[in-house]
Amino acid sequence: MKSQKEIKKIGVFTSGGDAPGMNAAIRAVVRTAIQYNLEVIGIKNGYRGLYEKNFVNLNQRSVANIIQRGGTFLKSGRFPEFKTPDVRTTVAQNIKDQGINAVVCIGGDGSLTGVQALWNEHQIPFAGIPGTIDNDIFGTDNTIGFDTAINTALEAIDRIRDTAASHDRLFIVEVMGHSSGFIASSVGLAGGAEAIFIPENPFNIEKVVHKIQESQKKGKTSSILVAAEGQKPGRAYDLAENIRKHSGLSAKVCILGHIQRGGSPTATDRILASRMGAAAVESLLKGNANKYIGIIGSQLQVVDTPVVLNQKKYVDQQIITLADVLSL
Ligand code: ADP
Repeated sequence: MKSQKEIKKIGVFTSGGDAPGMNAAIRAVVRTAIQYNLEVIGIKNGYRGLYEKNFVNLNQRSVANIIQRGGTFLKSGRFPEFKTPDVRTTVAQNIKDQGINAVVCIGGDGSLTGVQALWNEHQIPFAGIPGTIDNDIFGTDNTIGFDTAINTALEAIDRIRDTAASHDRLFIVEVMGHSSGFIASSVGLAGGAEAIFIPENPFNIEKVVHKIQESQKKGKTSSILVAAEGQKPGRAYDLAENIRKHSGLSAKVCILGHIQRGGSPTATDRILASRMGAAAVESLLKGNANKYIGIIGSQLQVVDTPVVLNQKKYVDQQIITLADVLSL
């Protein structure tokens, strides 16, 4: 493990899907590192930038005026080639040639898997920061970008509800979430959805149709269902078709898509990103080599990355049940 004295220069990069608040995290990493007299190198385009030596010197001013901006000024992306050991060997050499002693990786579980491999194979120390709108990383209650994404989706749902109520309509709103329903369950409860469909749970069309029909009998004229996209965007159309076949009810579909990724980060995300960015640098300076910063309740945690990568975080099913009960 590297001791505090050995770390003089760190690299920081964002990887995987972008998330609002990543800029705030970079800012916190850079400014904290400079407080500790470290040099900071920004790496553009995630792992691709490490491979192609796309490095840029960062100072306090480089991260001015970005805390309020969505996306990531270092740019992010996917670089599947990094899964190949030879590519990682080149990347490790590039890091060493640049004089970088440790890296801060801001991204999702795929990105964390990448830096863990760099540590295992080439002893490049890292600190991970969970940045993904999906909130699907074990060991942390929240990831950077999740709060902004659910608020963006919620605003859209509130607008759709105005139309649904004015025209007596049934809407299915599709939100992001490939393999996890964190966005759908939070937005569904906060938006008063009549039903929430998440990839983790089997569909129960009959139950949903029965609920809508019962509520119509009681005078309810409009309903909103929230569905996570699942493996392929557009799943809400299949759901609408299924509901039509079972009941004759016609549902309008609205797919929110990428608008959920962008936008100015909420205060919650900026605060989380600022705290995690500072904690990541301090974790490296304490000699931690493969830790990741999480938050449980209001307390930051320094978590073993292999533990995080080996476990799946599950949606709280009570949220789904509560949304169901409260939308009767
Ligand atoms: P996220 O970090 O948001 O989960 P991805 O899963 O797409 O996003 O991963 C981002 C990048 O991390 C990938 O393009 C790749 O460069 C790297 N990565 C992902 N999985 C691995 C892996 N198993 N081994 C090494 N690198 C990986």
